[in-house]
Amino acid sequence: MNVVLLGPPGAGKGTQAARIVEKYGVPHISTGDIFRANIKAGTELGKRAQEYMNRGELVPDELVVEIATDRLAADDCKEGFLLDGFPRTVFQAEKLDEFLASKGRKIEHVLNIEVGRDDLMARLTGRRVCKSCGASFHVVNIPPKQEGICDNCGAELVQRADDNEETASNRIEVYNRETKPLIDYYEKAGNIVNIDGGKAAEDVFAAIADRLGE
Ligand code: AMP
Repeated sequence: MNVVLLGPPGAGKGTQAARIVEKYGVPHISTGDIFRANIKAGTELGKRAQEYMNRGELVPDELVVEIATDRLAADDCKEGFLLDGFPRTVFQAEKLDEFLASKGRKIEHVLNIEVGRDDLMARLTGRRVCKSCGASFHVVNIPPKQEGICDNCGAELVQRADDNEETASNRIEVYNRETKPLIDYYEKAGNIVNIDGGKAAEDVFAAIADRLGE
């Protein structure tokens, strides 16, 4: 099961990814998570990625394609994978297809989660993530039991550096310019389905499970 989650920042890709992984047992590959882990660890890759991420810009294609295809070459991806936040440009999608074709594989499902701009801004700027375990909350929609504290592990909740108003708005613009053309790309390939991401998380997941099957 080779799946791509597509959709603007704040569409709920991370939330749905967690549910998909739980039900289908595929590895979750988030290029954003890989970059954040590298920033935390202070690696050279992290330093290079951070300057783009802080502005809400895309990290250059060559860098992203390399880390994504390296990850996909790992043993645990042999039976399938869930890509979240990759590809984000037509160039990346072409390189991904080339990489998979060289292994006799292809993308089977592209799940395009659609949410309107106002909702996206509210979700991004209200999002709080756990510093320690990465769990995601929202000041209004998914408040933690105790303000500023993670329900799962008790660590501090913080705002992602790129979830402030200005950077979030730029990320949505970058999505419209660079990533939206992928909808056309995958429509031509005939493997994309649009999912209404404005509904409650469990309803969104029901639509996804409908597509992916039992
Ligand atoms: P995300 O966690 O998916 O929202 O990604 C956070 C940030 O990481 C993005 O705003 C980009 O700066 C960078 N990033 C993640 N994935 C990619 C990608 N496929 N191409 C370029 N930049 C990316």
